[in-house]
Amino acid sequence: MSHSTEDHHTAFDANAAAALARRISEETMQHLQRPLEPGLYLVATPIGNLGDITLRALSVLARADIVYCEDTRHSARLLQHYAIRAETRPFHDHNEDGMRGRVMEQLERGARIALISDAGTPLVSDPGFKLVRECAAKNVPVFSLPGPSALVTALSGSGLPTDAFFFAGFLPPKEAARKARLNELKTVPATLIFYEAPQRLAGSLGDMAVCLGNRPAVVARELTKMHEELVRGRLSDLTRQYDGREPKGEIVVLCGPPEIGEVSDELIAERLDVALQSMRLKDAAAAVSDSLGVAKTRVYNLGLKAKKLD
Ligand code: SAM
Repeated sequence: MSHSTEDHHTAFDANAAAALARRISEETMQHLQRPLEPGLYLVATPIGNLGDITLRALSVLARADIVYCEDTRHSARLLQHYAIRAETRPFHDHNEDGMRGRVMEQLERGARIALISDAGTPLVSDPGFKLVRECAAKNVPVFSLPGPSALVTALSGSGLPTDAFFFAGFLPPKEAARKARLNELKTVPATLIFYEAPQRLAGSLGDMAVCLGNRPAVVARELTKMHEELVRGRLSDLTRQYDGREPKGEIVVLCGPPEIGEVSDELIAERLDVALQSMRLKDAAAAVSDSLGVAKTRVYNLGLKAKKLD
């Protein structure tokens, strides 16, 4: 079956554009005219593309008594873009404990407070958890506004199973702690999702290949931005691809769930191959035996046999 572009052409012309713009503006006006109840509003903001903000988010940010921001200067760009003149104050990892009491007082006096982070959904690897916990304990209303988050954006575009997923946030930066964490996660029957910094990507992918096995994985970079890319492959391929490279921008790494089946010699050899890129045979055998749950001697002997064949 052949498709020409005309088959898919809809009549979206200047008139249709004007009608849509009018509807958006009417709809926004309706949001702005609804009363804004007192309480804490958790407002998701774009992770790159400023168009990814909801009408409701804009209408809350415009009318909140105070908008608490992870970084007021960073959020000023978003607010200015939409001509919102909000009163902003900082609420971040370093002042959260000190600020919480003051924010609770304001909320208990009936203020309408919005909380935003630099990007995406507040509280997802971002500050705010203790504040929301305290609101819940003191029956202060909390309104969580859905919107962008890098983890869901990456997951839905990844092509990896979406029926069950486990968001593991950032891995520890040091190798030993990172491997220990990966070994804890290796039996989780779900797609694993991690946030990662560019300078740690290569190291983390290598450790994932050793600890989790050669699963299908995706490196999702600069989502919703100009240089957005989703790089798909097995963990060993991705490890090789990013070895010695520090890609620019923001990154989510996703690994498919554990692949079911008996542990074959081929699988052991494959994992040993990856582990031997950064370890001696003795350590590689220990790491692979740990991650696959097979005897260390079996892995070691397979490694010796492979060496002799080389
Ligand atoms: N609260 C945010 C959310 O809902 O996604 C996450 C905040 S966390 C401090 C920042 C991390 O999210 C980045 O280091 C990166 O791993 C991921 N991230 C944020 N924006 C991204 C984007 N546009 N593309 C890929 N990853 C992104």
